[in-house]
Amino acid sequence: MNYKPYTIKNLGKLPWLNRLSDAQIFNIRVVGSVLPFKTNNYVVNELINWDDFENDPMFILNFPQKAMLAPDQFNTMATLLNSGASAEKTAMEANRIRLSLNPHPAGQMDKNVPMLDNKKVNGIQHKYRETMLFFPTQGQTCHAYCTFCFRWPQFTGLEGQRFAMKDADTMVRYIKEHPELTDILFTGGDPMIMSAKLFSIYINALLDAKIKTIKTIRIGTKTLSFWPYRYLTDRDSPELLGLFKKITDAGIHLSIMSHINHPREISTEACERAISAIRKTGAVIRSQSPILNRINADADTWSRMWKEQVNLGIVPYYMFVARDTGAQSYFSVPLVKAWKLYREAYSQVSGIARTVRGPSMSASPGKVKVDGITEINGKKVMILSFVQARNPEWVKRPFFAEYDEKAIWLDQLKPAFGDDKFFFETPQPTASDELSVIGG
Ligand SMILES: *Cc1c(COP(=O)(O)O)cnc(C)c1O
Ligand code: SF4
Repeated sequence: MNYKPYTIKNLGKLPWLNRLSDAQIFNIRVVGSVLPFKTNNYVVNELINWDDFENDPMFILNFPQKAMLAPDQFNTMATLLNSGASAEKTAMEANRIRLSLNPHPAGQMDKNVPMLDNKKVNGIQHKYRETMLFFPTQGQTCHAYCTFCFRWPQFTGLEGQRFAMKDADTMVRYIKEHPELTDILFTGGDPMIMSAKLFSIYINALLDAKIKTIKTIRIGTKTLSFWPYRYLTDRDSPELLGLFKKITDAGIHLSIMSHINHPREISTEACERAISAIRKTGAVIRSQSPILNRINADADTWSRMWKEQVNLGIVPYYMFVARDTGAQSYFSVPLVKAWKLYREAYSQVSGIARTVRGPSMSASPGKVKVDGITEINGKKVMILSFVQARNPEWVKRPFFAEYDEKAIWLDQLKPAFGDDKFFFETPQPTASDELSVIGG
């Protein structure tokens, strides 16, 4: 199968375009001029249910919807497009709107850049002691874009081996200076957009360095959902799977962190075959997804998804809360509702699928999970805890917020029992002050 992307530029060539009304096509053009839009032949031909596309989670996951912009933002862009405004003018307005959509949540930009030889290193985040995030230069785009994602500042992929060699060298040097690291997580965008040849530069650099402290390599990817042919029929599929095998043969745990938002994504024959090809290399596939209004905000969808994942050999890992960026208001599910859905779905599956943690917010102090709702001394409160924290001592320590049915993010919660701060907001020396980074 040959990969064919569709963007605003070649929208006219999209198969199934005749299903959309002129108004719907116009809406895609308007919203797609602000939020990144890309889909492909696999998604449109094998995932989307065109008989009911308006309500179809796979359609909403890929195609910009009118309500993803505020009415005034939509109208401004629509007027510009209708009046045939210049590309510069349209781009300027689009950028203005993007900047108002919090493109860098949780201080990713300024707080996350670590140091090496007293210089800032781009492409690495080291927020939690044992795990380093690595953003290979060539992996900053995806086979299709999720409408809930707002990594548009990153979607400007650069190619080239020279970059890869330089990047790989920096990564290895940083790891050698940080023996506390056990996990390297390749992320993006989608690192599996890289050719096997480019990816091998990174993997070989890591393996050749024989760093004993590194036990796990993780790859964060949406390929199982958006392009399973990456592991089946791409020219370098065998080479890519060979690299996976090389990693596991070296005694390193390889975990494919698969972004799966809906059970439909793992229902196709291509996806099942891709899962099985990956598992044959000795890699373990884990899954994660935010809980998203209009895509997966009901308990049955989640329990079905977890059961089917387990059945296919995927380990359910994280349920996230949609982050505070981009079209968040379109997708957001209040924390209380998210917890209720999580609990209901969790109670419907066997212990084997109860490996999943959530609902969890990736906020600037760490990953904060809603553990439950209860009453203490006649007061309704939310129980929260850190799954991961900037300061490892914060992990798993329960804390309480006032019950708030509307809150969708940590910054909207108030400490319970009249406290004016959560425990982690009190300045205190932290073990991770020695680490160079925070954020993410
Ligand atoms: C989630 C996350 C990790 C990995 O955390 P685990 O709980 O080990 O999966 C690492 N770094 C950042 C910045 C993250 O958000
Ligand atoms: S695959 Fe991941 S990085 Fe790419 S658009 Fe979707 S959520 Fe964003």
